[in-house]
Amino acid sequence: MLNVILFGPPGSGKGTQSEKLIAKYGFKHLSTGDLLRSEITAKTALGLEAKGLMDKGQLVPDEVVIGMISHALEANPKATGFLFDGFPRTEAQSVALDNLLKKYNTQIGVFLALEVSEEELVKRLLNRGLTSGRSDDTNEEVIRARIIEYERKTMVVADYYEKFKKVAHIKGEGSVEDIFNTLCNEINKRV
Ligand code: ADP
Repeated sequence: MLNVILFGPPGSGKGTQSEKLIAKYGFKHLSTGDLLRSEITAKTALGLEAKGLMDKGQLVPDEVVIGMISHALEANPKATGFLFDGFPRTEAQSVALDNLLKKYNTQIGVFLALEVSEEELVKRLLNRGLTSGRSDDTNEEVIRARIIEYERKTMVVADYYEKFKKVAHIKGEGSVEDIFNTLCNEINKRV
């Protein structure tokens, strides 16, 4: 079983590359952003609470996303590998994920960190906002707030996996295909 974390700031291409990686390797995709948006669409209490924070560009509380991931792991006993996208986003989430995976006698195989400049991120997100229907992509202030949350709370997650020598740094600018091939090379080294 190989479990992968696809890491990077908002707009770094995690969604695009996730789709391609799932098609190639058959990972079960676990995106906390997608899970939260499903809760919003279903108008659950959790979704309502999350929406207020997401629309301000802030992170949803750790307990909420950890609970969602815990349920998703439980619901997929036959998965041959998970691709975590947008999770973990804080050190507490990283520790929780390690503990959850231990329960299933597995662990993270590789932490793929996409690196993209801030100006490119803002450009991509505003562009995505024209068609994505995502309210957090249409306002530059909210986009900048998400990048600040990333710098303040999420970047440290890479240091956490660095301690376990699991991080591969990948330049997230260039063609989708070239970036995909680099990601695949890093995964293939571990299988
Ligand atoms: P992006 O990476 O483009 O910001 P996501 O779909 O991953 O998009 O996340 C959208 C929003 O959902 C985030 O700004 C945040 O509010 C919330 N969110 C997603 N994943 C997490 C997480 N692991 N912890 C806390 N909040 C999260």
